[in-house]
Order: sequence, then C-alpha cells, then structure tokens
Amino acid sequence: MLTGRKIPVIMAVGGFDPSGGAGILADIKTVSSLGCYGVAVLTSVTIQNTRGVLDVHHQSAKTVRDQIAALEDDFQVSAVKTGMLPTEEIVDALATALSAVEPRFLVVDPVLNASAGFDLAGISMKAIIGRLFPVASLVTPNANEAARITGITIVDRESMERAGREIQTMGAQAVLIKGGDMGSEEAVDILIDSKGVLELSGPKIHSSNTHGTGCTMASAIAALLASGRPLREAVRMAKAYVAAAIRTAPGLGHGYGPVNHFHAMADHGAEG
Ligand code: PLP
Repeated sequence: MLTGRKIPVIMAVGGFDPSGGAGILADIKTVSSLGCYGVAVLTSVTIQNTRGVLDVHHQSAKTVRDQIAALEDDFQVSAVKTGMLPTEEIVDALATALSAVEPRFLVVDPVLNASAGFDLAGISMKAIIGRLFPVASLVTPNANEAARITGITIVDRESMERAGREIQTMGAQAVLIKGGDMGSEEAVDILIDSKGVLELSGPKIHSSNTHGTGCTMASAIAALLASGRPLREAVRMAKAYVAAAIRTAPGLGHGYGPVNHFHAMADHGAEG
C-alpha cells in the first residue's frame, strides 16, 4: 500500500480483451497489484475469449485522441505503456498527444498477433516504428515480433542480440527481446540498454495459461520504472512477477488461460 507519497499514474493504451487475460484489463490489474494507479485509453474492442480472437472493432483516431486529452487534462501521468495500436491514424494521434502527456517513461509492446494468430497490429507496425520507437524508453518484442520488425531470423541468443541492436538503431533507448516462446528449456530474454547487453534467464514454465503475458510484462516494467526502479532492476522484477503469475494461474477458460495478476495478494480462502 502506498501511503505518504503520490501514487504513480500509468496510462495503458491498448485493446480491450473481454476475457481479461490480455489488453488493458491485464495492464490495469498488473499496475494495480504493483502499487500504481492505472488509467486506460481504448484503441479497439476485441471479441475474444481464451480460445481466440473472433473479431475486432477499432476505435477512431478521434476517440483515442479525446480519451488521452481528457486524462492528460486531469492526471500527471508517470508512464505510458502501449499495446494493441491497430491503425496508423491511432499511432499518429498517440504520438502527437504524447508531447502533451509528457510521461517520464514510454514502454512500447509492439503487439502484432494474438497467441491464436489474429492480426492485431500488422498494418500499423511501420507507424509504430517510425513514430513511437524514437521516443520509447523501452520496446518489448517477443522473438517473433522482433523477427518481423527487423527481418532477422531469430534462432539463438546471438540473433536475438542482433535484432535487439537493430531495433535500438530505430531509436529506442532500450530493447527487451523475450525468448520465452523459443524452443529451449530456459526462458531467455535479452535486454539491450545504454550499459550494454544483459541476459536474463529462468526455467521455462510449461503452461497453457500464458494469455496476456506480453501485456503483463510490459505494464509491470512501466509500473516499476514509474515507482523509481532502475531499468535493469525493473525488468528483473517484472520477469519474476510474470513467472509467479503463470505458476499460480487460476486455470480459467478452455484455451490459453489468464495468468494470476494478484499472486502477491492474500488468499481470500474462497473454495471452488
Ligand atoms: N492486446 C490485446 C487486446 C489482445 O487481445 C492481445 C492478445 O490476444 C494482446 C494485446 C497480446 O497479448 P500477449 O500479451 O499475449 O502478447
């Protein structure tokens, strides 16, 4: 519980997943459980459950612009975390609005597809690279997204690092390539920042409850940065937070289930 100091406000900009595993619901749960206050800007209503995405209803650039303006007028936002940004117009509206929001940190999760394969942002990736990477504190692609962004085939640590450096040349201050979906028994992530390269590895947790882990990781990092943690520490802590969230997942739904965002909170003794 934060008392005696101002609670950091995190703005999550992304899609709505009604099943609550990914998107802005996952972002809000994550930042809340890490002691921050979450506000959200909706870019698209997705129709989905844990089995997959059935449809998407993208918001207009004006709707996105107006949501940000209303929040910016009322809150001091410490960090902005972006997820699903489905159109170029939305990316442009966000990039322009950021100069008024003036967050201390911008964490860009370059979401391309849902785990079940639905295209969530393929058409706007050029705009995300051109307008958001140059102002990003951190970009957090998984290996597949990093490969699509750079054209580099990612098969090992060396190619992850090469892709990360390439994304850094696109303007991002730091890049975290997440290798959790790669074949090995270790979940190896590579962080490239101003100090150099840091390899973070942990045992891979074999689970189908991984829906929204990308959203969760990026918002955890945004919350920890806004709470004053240095980047490397924020990334290490966020990785541990996500691992515990997968390990204690509630096992809901019939597809890729949600993780447990509140694993650090008390068990309420509910029986089910
Ligand atoms: N944002 C939304 C709205 C989504 O529906 C999804 C996946 O379904 C994602 C982001 C990306 O999810 P993940 O965190 O699993 O990469």
